[in-house]
Amino acid sequence: MRRLTFAIAAVLACASVQAAPTRIPEQALARAAELREQALADDTGWKVVESLTTEVGPRLAGSEADARAVEWAKAKFRALGFDRVWTEPVTFPKWERRSEQAQVLGAHAQPLAITALGGSPAGTAEGEVVRFESLDALKAAPAGSLAGKIAFIDYQMTRSRSGEDYGIGGTVRSRGPSEAIRKGALGYIMRSAGTDSHRVPHTGITRFDEGLTPVPSAALSVPDAEQLARLVARGPTRIRMTLDCGWDGSYTSQNVIGEITGRELPKEVVVIGGHLDSWDLGTGAVDDGAGIGITMAAGHLIGQLRQAPRRSIRVIAFANEEQGLHGGFAYAAARVKAREIPLQHIAAESDFGAGRIYAFNTGSGNPAGSREATAQIARILAPLGIEYRPDQGGPGPDVGPLAAKGGAWAWLAQDGTDYFDLHHTADDTLDKIDPKALAQNVAAYTVFAYLAAESEGSFGSEARDVVPPKE
Ligand code: ZN
Ligand code: ZN
Repeated sequence: MRRLTFAIAAVLACASVQAAPTRIPEQALARAAELREQALADDTGWKVVESLTTEVGPRLAGSEADARAVEWAKAKFRALGFDRVWTEPVTFPKWERRSEQAQVLGAHAQPLAITALGGSPAGTAEGEVVRFESLDALKAAPAGSLAGKIAFIDYQMTRSRSGEDYGIGGTVRSRGPSEAIRKGALGYIMRSAGTDSHRVPHTGITRFDEGLTPVPSAALSVPDAEQLARLVARGPTRIRMTLDCGWDGSYTSQNVIGEITGRELPKEVVVIGGHLDSWDLGTGAVDDGAGIGITMAAGHLIGQLRQAPRRSIRVIAFANEEQGLHGGFAYAAARVKAREIPLQHIAAESDFGAGRIYAFNTGSGNPAGSREATAQIARILAPLGIEYRPDQGGPGPDVGPLAAKGGAWAWLAQDGTDYFDLHHTADDTLDKIDPKALAQNVAAYTVFAYLAAESEGSFGSEARDVVPPKE
């Protein structure tokens, strides 16, 4: 996942006419409380993640498994009873990983556990390692000081429930290689953006600034980074890193969409979803098989009601989140083109693992009229251990582009304490998911989506131009 910060600039040049505050009828609240208990006892979410991670396995965007995942998602939506199932194309550059290895040379020769960063070119980088404690320390190095050398940023991410330190760890990954090139480096390595102590490196996308010639860029596992730091402290240390990976043309995948048709306002949709792609090292269970399972199960449970919800429930399995929110941008662009932003009633993406949800809020460019409805939803979520946190949160990665175009969003914050032990590693596998925690997520998404669909009044979605999300 990528955390999005986006400034709602140019907030409404003119004040809009204040409608009556949005409300949710009592009958719907009672129905949602029943749905909540039903979802807690239901294992559909677990079965969906189990199916995806077992039958498709790793599903790197643009790989053969990407196509199988699309077919899997279409079939799963149909099997779960969704009224409409369709796909929307998403085209992006295709990156492949073939092989990767690194070793320390000389007196202390030994192998290092590394993985190429997504977007890295192929090549062999051999040279002395120069260690930096942070991205800022690398930026402060004199120009040209890394000529013929390999830059090594040794930043250790801190564990927390919110996972907020990924803001720094992720930046070391996305910005580090370009800064290293500016100082003359012929290669880039980093301590993984992770909180585990296992010998599994964490991959993830990086980018090279325009005008720079990309260099091989990789992440070391946390214990390998510590090993390398000890060697560097003993004296000049040379390594050789050989990566076979790189960009190869473009690929068209699909956002796969399943919808439960609303009974009164079918064109207005509550959007929930996760991303269908994963990195290739594990089986993409917590990132983001869990999000797919949680939201498909929530849509399924709402679809089983005797009376359909007032608005439609749209579940989206987004294509290629990992390499740049490609599915999220494509979905938003298609809605803008069709002038459908006001029909996107509210949107939420589950993309922070499978830990329990602990906080909830909604937002938009103009949230004032929907605060009471948000508090009503929060009251039905409270028995799940979820707190209402007005004025906090933001949209998940793939619904960020929609929010930037004026769509309202909901925030269902997951406990990410162990998320960065697993994130983008070979350890991201099904056994790490607690079925009870997953069911709590399904219950929360079911309650939220159902009540948002039943609301009388809006959550603030309206077409507008705001500053687009930073990638
Ligand atoms: Zn990810
Ligand atoms: Zn993700």
